[in-house]
Amino acid sequence: MNSLGPVIWLLAVILSLSVIGGGECSDYRLSRNVLPTFYDLTISLRGDAENPEEIFDGEVKITLHALQANVQQITLHKDNIDILSNAQLYNDAGLIVEDIVNTSMTYKQETQQLTLHLEQPLVAMQSYVLLFKYTGIVRTDMTGLFSASYIEEQTGKTKWMALTQMQRLNARLVFPCFDEPALKAKFQVHIGRPNGLNAISNTKLLETTDDGHNRFVDHFDVTPLMSTYLLAFMISDYKARGNLSDFAVVSRPDYYNKTQFSYQVGQQVMSAFGKLFHQPYPDLGNQALLYASSPRFPHNGMENWGLILYKDAVLVQDPGYTDGWEDQEYCIRILAHETSHMWFGNSVTFKWWSYFWLNEAFARYYEYFMAHQVNVHTIIYWC
Ligand SMILES: [Zn+2]
Repeated sequence: MNSLGPVIWLLAVILSLSVIGGGECSDYRLSRNVLPTFYDLTISLRGDAENPEEIFDGEVKITLHALQANVQQITLHKDNIDILSNAQLYNDAGLIVEDIVNTSMTYKQETQQLTLHLEQPLVAMQSYVLLFKYTGIVRTDMTGLFSASYIEEQTGKTKWMALTQMQRLNARLVFPCFDEPALKAKFQVHIGRPNGLNAISNTKLLETTDDGHNRFVDHFDVTPLMSTYLLAFMISDYKARGNLSDFAVVSRPDYYNKTQFSYQVGQQVMSAFGKLFHQPYPDLGNQALLYASSPRFPHNGMENWGLILYKDAVLVQDPGYTDGWEDQEYCIRILAHETSHMWFGNSVTFKWWSYFWLNEAFARYYEYFMAHQVNVHTIIYWC
């Protein structure tokens, strides 16, 4: 027996595994034959503020740029959403190029990839708009678009709300999209909602239009160029401390008087990061930064660009109950962490999830660094 035999055998196994692994990996990655540049997304809740329905309606117009000649297939992600009718492909003059029959689309459940087979190949370096109409589910498992509720103190009524968690692979639960972090695009969000609820999203509200039947549509500003996992919105009966077009802490009305501390810390943290990095927050490309609070949330906070969503426990300090030193320290750290992601992760983003640790490493470092920089009286005790 040759002593190199086992080594050669081991190398052969490693090589074949890496080839198999590479193949599997590429199956999960989208082709770069087209590049999405803009999503015009409308999400409409059904039902009224007291009786919301589980199904929501969606419409998305995705502007695409063909990067190759003779593109015959477009593949993107969707998960648990139903495409209602044919998809339409338009050219950049707004003329229809192709009506893509719903039944001709193919879907791979394993990779959550939807492929459209085109009869008219795309021309390289031309822009197109792809339109989908679909329905999705307001979920309960704190992924995609999900519901939460709380009991209003004065009335004892159950108040319903809906919010999002797109990271990591959940944007595809809310709209058909190219759901990879490197495929950054700009987004414009429109939220249809019943009277009695309000919507917030990544950017400032531009206008609200009356849709009739006691329903309204909120139209938000275009986002900076960003990854799909950073898109967010919340629909609730909220009250804002501060200016929704600038900086505000958003909570249920019962908690309005318990958000002074998080509002003060948020302002300090945002300003201090801007000075430290010589790049004020608005210069990153978004004027608005909202901190919003939910009774149900899967993490302490999620760094959606312009709309950081938190658990109630982070933003709400109840005098004499949850406003002690440890609670305030927790609040400062989490706010510093999530806000630092506006610079580390949102403005500058990892190419693929295997580099996600870079995001969190920078944010974790600045969580502690900034907590010591912020001029809050509790910090004295840390030194
Ligand atoms: Zn983080």
